[in-house]
Amino acid sequence: MKVLKFGGTSVGSTENMRAVMELITDGEQKVVVLSAMSGTTNSLVEISNYLYKKNKDSARMVINQLEEKYIKVVANLFEKAESKIEGIKVVKESFTAIRSFTSGDFKEIGEKTILAQGELISTALFVILMKENGHKAVYLPALDFMRIDADKAADLYYTKEAIPGVIEKAGEADYYITQGFICRNANDEIDNLQRGGSDYTATLIGAAIESEEVQIWTDIDGFHNNDPRFVEKTRKIEQLSFDEAAELAYFGAKILHPLTVLPAKLQNIPVRLKNTMNPSDSGTLIASNSSESGIKAVAAKDGITAIKIRSYRMLMAYGFMKSIFEIFEFFKTPIDMVSTSEVAVSLTIDDTRNLEDIKRELQEYGEVEIDTDQSIVCIVGDLIAEEKGFAAKIFNALEGIPIRMISYGGSRHNISILVPTSLKKQTLQALNDNLLNV
Ligand code: ADP
Ligand code: ASP
Ligand code: MG
Repeated sequence: MKVLKFGGTSVGSTENMRAVMELITDGEQKVVVLSAMSGTTNSLVEISNYLYKKNKDSARMVINQLEEKYIKVVANLFEKAESKIEGIKVVKESFTAIRSFTSGDFKEIGEKTILAQGELISTALFVILMKENGHKAVYLPALDFMRIDADKAADLYYTKEAIPGVIEKAGEADYYITQGFICRNANDEIDNLQRGGSDYTATLIGAAIESEEVQIWTDIDGFHNNDPRFVEKTRKIEQLSFDEAAELAYFGAKILHPLTVLPAKLQNIPVRLKNTMNPSDSGTLIASNSSESGIKAVAAKDGITAIKIRSYRMLMAYGFMKSIFEIFEFFKTPIDMVSTSEVAVSLTIDDTRNLEDIKRELQEYGEVEIDTDQSIVCIVGDLIAEEKGFAAKIFNALEGIPIRMISYGGSRHNISILVPTSLKKQTLQALNDNLLNV
C-alpha cells in the first residue's frame, strides 16, 4: 500500500482539498497523510507564544480569527447539511480544546495540544468530504500509533507494532486518512515531530507498513538544485540517492523535514516528490542510487553558532578532542561541522540552549570564541566522480566570499562551508551561477 502525504498548501483551501480528493481517488488502496491547512500551525504557534507571555487578549484575538476562517472553510467545503453540521462540530471541539488553555498557567502540554489541532481539523474535515462524495475513507488517529521516546526520537518499532491494529479497528476502506506531524511522547502526552514533521510521518508509516512507495505532494515540481526562495534559475533534479537527499534535507532544504529520508533508506522504499498543482510532472525520485554523477545540489541551514577553542596546550597533547566532545555529549548538543588545526578546533552547533554552560566548561581547556548568525552551505553530489579539481571549482565559484570554516572528506556526498548568514543568499547565488549552471 502506498503512502501519500499532502503538505499545507496542498490542503490550503477548499479548492485544493477537492483537488487532492480527485487526485487520490483512483480506487487503489492507500494511506493519506495530511498537514494542517497552510498558515494554521503558524497561527497556533502565535497563540501559544501569547499564552506563554500571559498576553491572553492577543491569544484570544488570534483564536477567534482562526476559528472564523474554519467556519468559512466548512461552509464552502461541503454540499450537504449533515456534512456541514459534522464539520462545525469538528471545528468547535478543537477550538474548545484551544480555549481551555487560555485560563490558568500555560505549560508545554498546552502548547503541544494547541499545535496538534491543525492536523486534527484538516484530516477530520477531509474524511467528511471524502464520505460526502461517496468514497470509502476512514480516519486513522495518528496519536494511537506515532510515538517519540524520552530522547524525542521517533519510535518506529512502536509504530510497526501498533499500526496493524489501528488499521483493523478503523475497518476495511480504500483510503486511510491520518495526521502528519503529531504523535505521543514517552509520557503518553500529545507531542509532535517538530515543524515540517508531516514528511517524516509519511516515511515512518511507509517503513512501518513496508510500503512500496512514499509520495510527498507539495507546491513545487520536486527537489531543486538550489533553494528557490533565495536563488533565481534553480532546476528540478530527476533523481537523488537516499544519502544525497538526506544530507540536503538535514542541511536545510525546506522541501523535506531533516529526518524524512532515514526510515525510507532503512527499508529501501522509494520516495517520490510530486507537485499537487501539476500532478502529471514526473517529480523527483529518491531511491538507493542516483541518476547522474557529479555535483547535484546545494542547501543552506541557518541559525548556526560557530565555536572555536584555542588550546592552552593542545600541541602534541592527546585527549584534548575527547574532552571537548564529551562536553557537548554531556549537554546533549549535536555538532554539525568540525575542523581542526594544531592548536585549535572549530565546530558548529544549532542548539544553543546550553551554550553558556558549554562555554564555561570549554574555557577549562582553552580560549573560546563564539560567532552567532552563521549558515552552513552544503554542496552535495557524488563527489568521487568529481574528485579531480572539485575543490578548486568550489573555491573559484566562491571567489570574494569570506568562508569561516570548511568540512570536506567526512562523506563522499558532501562538502560544507560556513558563512555569515548575511552572505548566505550571495553564496547560494554564486554557487548557482558558477558551479551548478555552467
Ligand atoms: P509543504 O507545506 O508541502 O510541506 P514546504 O513549504 O514545507 O511544503 O516545502 C516546499 C517548499 O520548500 C517549496 O515551496 C520551496 O520554496 C522550498 N524549498 C527549499 N529548498 C528547496 C529545494 N531544494 N527544492 C525544492 N523546494 C525547496
Ligand atoms: N503543520 C506542521 C507545520 O506547519 C507540520 C507540516 O506541515 O509538516 O510545521
Ligand atoms: Mg513541509
